[in-house]
Amino acid sequence: MAQLLQIDITMEKKDRIIKQSDGIQYVPDFPILPFIEGDGIGPDIWCAARMVIESAVHRAYNNQRKISWLELYAGEKGYHKTGEWLPKETLDAVKEYVVAIKGPLTTPVGKGMRSINVAIRQKLDLYACIRPVKHIDAVPSPMKNPEKIDMVVFRENTEDVYAGIEWQSGSDEAESIISFLKEEMGFSLSGDTGIGIKPISEKNTKRLVTKAISYALDKSLPSVTLMHKGNIMKFTEGAFRKWGYEVAKERFKDKTITEEELFDICNGKQPEGKVLIKDRIADMLFQQVLLRPEEYHVIATSNLNGDYISDALAAQVGGLGMAPGANIGDMCAVFEATHGTAPKYAGLDKVNPSSLILSGAMMLDYIGWKKASTLIRQALVSTIKNGTVTYDLARQMEGAKEVKCSEFAKRIVENIG
Ligand code: NAP
Repeated sequence: MAQLLQIDITMEKKDRIIKQSDGIQYVPDFPILPFIEGDGIGPDIWCAARMVIESAVHRAYNNQRKISWLELYAGEKGYHKTGEWLPKETLDAVKEYVVAIKGPLTTPVGKGMRSINVAIRQKLDLYACIRPVKHIDAVPSPMKNPEKIDMVVFRENTEDVYAGIEWQSGSDEAESIISFLKEEMGFSLSGDTGIGIKPISEKNTKRLVTKAISYALDKSLPSVTLMHKGNIMKFTEGAFRKWGYEVAKERFKDKTITEEELFDICNGKQPEGKVLIKDRIADMLFQQVLLRPEEYHVIATSNLNGDYISDALAAQVGGLGMAPGANIGDMCAVFEATHGTAPKYAGLDKVNPSSLILSGAMMLDYIGWKKASTLIRQALVSTIKNGTVTYDLARQMEGAKEVKCSEFAKRIVENIG
């Protein structure tokens, strides 16, 4: 059912597939990259993002490099085309082609099917959700000094309360858990209680924190903060903190230093080349990133905390329309905006496509096409500086000209040159 677009390059399919193993990546010059359009505002922002990505690749590499897009189905379009919300063929294709990009997918609240977005992350083991939050010059912000915000959130993507182990109040399963807790564990819960389980494991925590520390070292960033609620949930959130410090010692002993060591051994002066590993309780970190954002560089955290903090941080740099993201595992990667389907704007050609455009730039970085990703970021800044923006930024910027989603993308393409 997947549909290959732009089949104008006469090369065998096998020579156009990205390959990745043991951290080594091979990217052909004419790769096939799958995309999922998404629900709600998905088609609008995907159309805009695709136009910008293609234009940047063309400008950067002329005809020496080009992406052919392979459409995969999921969500509402998936259901209409195949009768399934998340066809197995879609997951198999992402595994086969290694790198993909997607629009947002709808999930009903409090009823109906479980999140397709979460299912994609879990089934493909895309364990690190990476969300950079950096203020772009000229973008309106509620902060006094938005230029101080430059962080990357590493959110664990496969477990926590997102694991989907939960039972409705009054169900047989909820009743049996309630009696088990009473009879075997001595906890008494009211019979009308809904139950959810919060699994957090050592293996999944350590691989996520390893990715976060490796990123900080790679980019020469000063710190990694373990964000948790371990004072209350000791054996899940508290364990996340403990395992985070452990993996820093086990795998990066000579390259990291804890806050305790910093003051006990180094008189508070951070040794050059070492990453400071610190931890903060989640609620407190929310106020710190507002008051002292310059003290935070990489935040490694569990699934729910990561979801909350990345949306809050997005607000500090212009809102959800400006927030890109990536879901990365050892075998494949799926790039997607932080926000959802914003259903009230579906089909209006209105919303800000920057989130997906910047996710596309992250995807180009990931495959090593940095000349194209740089062009995208530069052209986006110029477009916003010119004061031509979508409604979300226009309502925060005096004298700005509001343009439609597609028009905004066209201006970026013009600025790419
Ligand atoms: P949402 O879709 O993220 O939208 C909430 C609000 O954020 C919008 O009404 C709009 O604010 C602003 N916004 C979002 N995207 C924007 C953009 N590109 N440009 C400008 N403003 C933007 O959140 P939601 O309404 O809570 O969720 C809707 C659906 O999306 C749900 O089914 C949810 O499960 C799903 N969802 C999917 C994903 C995903 O696919 N990864 C992620 C989150 C949510 P204003 O109203 O102020 O203009």
